[in-house]
Amino acid sequence: MKNLLQKGLVFISATLLLASCGEEKNTEANPESEMTENVLLQEWTGPYGGVPAFDKMQLKDIKEAVTLGMDMKLKEIDAIANNPEPATFENTIVEMERSGAALDRAFNYYGIFSSNMSSPEFREIEGELAPLITEFRSTITQNEKLFQRIKTVYQATKKTPLEADKQRVVDLVYKSFEMNGAELSPENKEQYAAIAKELSSLYTDFSNNVLHDEENYITYLSDQQLGGLPEGFVKSAAAIAQANGHEGEYAITNTRSSIDPFLTYSTERELRKQVWTNFYSRGDNGDEFDNNKLIAEILRLRREKVELLGYSNYAEWRLQDRMAKTPENAINLMEAVWPAALARVAEEVADMQALAGNEITIEPWDYRFYAELVRKDKYDLDSDEVKQYLQLDKLTEAMHYVAGRLFDFEFTPVTDGSVPVFHEDVKVWKVTNKNTRENVGLWYLDPYARPGKRSGAWATTYRSHTTFDGKKNVLASNNSNFVKPAEGEALLVSWDDATTFFHEFGHALHFFSSNVKYPTLNSGVRDYTEFQSQLLERWLATDEVISNFLVHNETGDPMPAELVQKIKNAATFNQGFSTTEYLASAIMDMKFHLADPSNIDVDKFERETLAELKMPKELPMRHRTPHFSHVFSSEGYATAYYGYMWADVLTADATEAFAEAPNGFYDKELADKAVKYLFAPRNAIDPAEAYRLFRGRDARIEALMKDRGFPVPVSE
Ligand SMILES: [Zn+2]
Repeated sequence: MKNLLQKGLVFISATLLLASCGEEKNTEANPESEMTENVLLQEWTGPYGGVPAFDKMQLKDIKEAVTLGMDMKLKEIDAIANNPEPATFENTIVEMERSGAALDRAFNYYGIFSSNMSSPEFREIEGELAPLITEFRSTITQNEKLFQRIKTVYQATKKTPLEADKQRVVDLVYKSFEMNGAELSPENKEQYAAIAKELSSLYTDFSNNVLHDEENYITYLSDQQLGGLPEGFVKSAAAIAQANGHEGEYAITNTRSSIDPFLTYSTERELRKQVWTNFYSRGDNGDEFDNNKLIAEILRLRREKVELLGYSNYAEWRLQDRMAKTPENAINLMEAVWPAALARVAEEVADMQALAGNEITIEPWDYRFYAELVRKDKYDLDSDEVKQYLQLDKLTEAMHYVAGRLFDFEFTPVTDGSVPVFHEDVKVWKVTNKNTRENVGLWYLDPYARPGKRSGAWATTYRSHTTFDGKKNVLASNNSNFVKPAEGEALLVSWDDATTFFHEFGHALHFFSSNVKYPTLNSGVRDYTEFQSQLLERWLATDEVISNFLVHNETGDPMPAELVQKIKNAATFNQGFSTTEYLASAIMDMKFHLADPSNIDVDKFERETLAELKMPKELPMRHRTPHFSHVFSSEGYATAYYGYMWADVLTADATEAFAEAPNGFYDKELADKAVKYLFAPRNAIDPAEAYRLFRGRDARIEALMKDRGFPVPVSE
């Protein structure tokens, strides 16, 4: 079945510039980290090359850990910058790669407090730290002496190139400094840093406003209002309501994982409207938590920042080191797909309207509900029936099986309590290379939603693979928001959620398979790094997975061939909806950053842009602007949301290679090639080149159009 495009956030090295992934177990202990008692800065001890002390983390230590960690790194950077020896790759670039180990450890805990167990107390600390962290980064990128040394090394390599991977590190480091203002005059540098600092505060405010609106618009239902809702959903809604002190009621929280099933199944149209409105009004309620003014300010500051660097807009600056290279390339792709998506929406709405009859006109809060009816009617596919075969435990086994076949990884649960976790629900597996028996690392899984955990699903690393200072194993995690089942119940998930689960695991496999020497080479290229994860989604529907792992939660029978066929038939179903809701957000992201931001009225701009695009009135953007966290809660996905589709062109094209291989999706030769060129090099090879090495040519759009059931353009 079709993959969805947008799988929540991935924090690949959110601290890109700082990340020198980790742990220095076999080197001399850093004398400075011994000066502090702060547990969050300490070297990681214990098994598997040392593991984070999640059992000892306390909120009271985080602020000190981060600020001390930053001081320590700045001292290390100063030492590099003031080295009296002439600048070399070893004494400048490698030393930079090595610096900041203690800070990296602190940031790992910070990431957990921020994403997995946030609280009002933490958010206050976060608000205090955010501008300090930005200032810290600016201090490094604006360190004139340091940059001159980097530049010296860079220029020397233009005459005498280094080995490919070292050269790539030099190029990436130099580019990143240049893009962040290292070449500016002292005066402009100051202004640049001030803007960056102001932006970081705005990002925090933006996120907090969204979170506020997610936590404060819960809809409580009585037992008279449960029409159409699946039993499992009702049970968990009751549990959430009880936890919130609403015993005997049922809570629909204002998050995607809750509203999505509600809008799909509830027969209560007025309630659907209310729940829909709450969700799509996040950050847009005209109160003190409204994000529209913040966004205008963010856009204005982003433009001002890149103008200092001589770029005409943020998108142009941002895309130069991406696979797309220019905003035009990204827009061209989106515009090539958009008309087909709109045409499909019109067909979908007509199908739905035919089922709904004359009594109602399809509104946005009806789309999922009637789509589900059409799905049953047209494809005779009942999502709830499919769900009976999708148990989270079995899906986990299935992913491990796929990893074994394609990557030669073996996953074994760590059950002896030797690896500390930050919550009792987190489970840990050790990952072993089946051939060499070497430990690849540990895989942490935090599956369930809980208050304070960010919504969506994501993957992250606590430690990445590097070899420049002795071989480091990988500590990677997957995080989801499945509603924890009642005691003794199987956790059944939807096909889409199962796909997302595989998706995030694809990110983890990308981390685990890294063979790079230097931390910088682990960095993600935003419009490329969703490719590996999207590719892995495709193994959910392979015969091996279906017959062995998609088994009925009560009878244990594998999913019947007939049901499998129905799922495959329905693969292109509702592609109008999912492509359009995604593309509308992606195009909006780009247009906002190309537009003149002076005096921009965000709400009006969104409305007018949608009108120009001829956005169908029956569905909203997947992320409306006032809560588009990908784009406005950090720089992470700003002018980068298109990247999911960019990566999906590669995904569809690469999938076709597997479909055509002699042994299909488990073709060993092709799998080895995929691991070698698409996964293991991370950012050590230019992505376009890596893809060509795998496929023998560039990716083409045809496979993507075919996947979505859209008319395939005729090649010239
Ligand atoms: Zn992803």
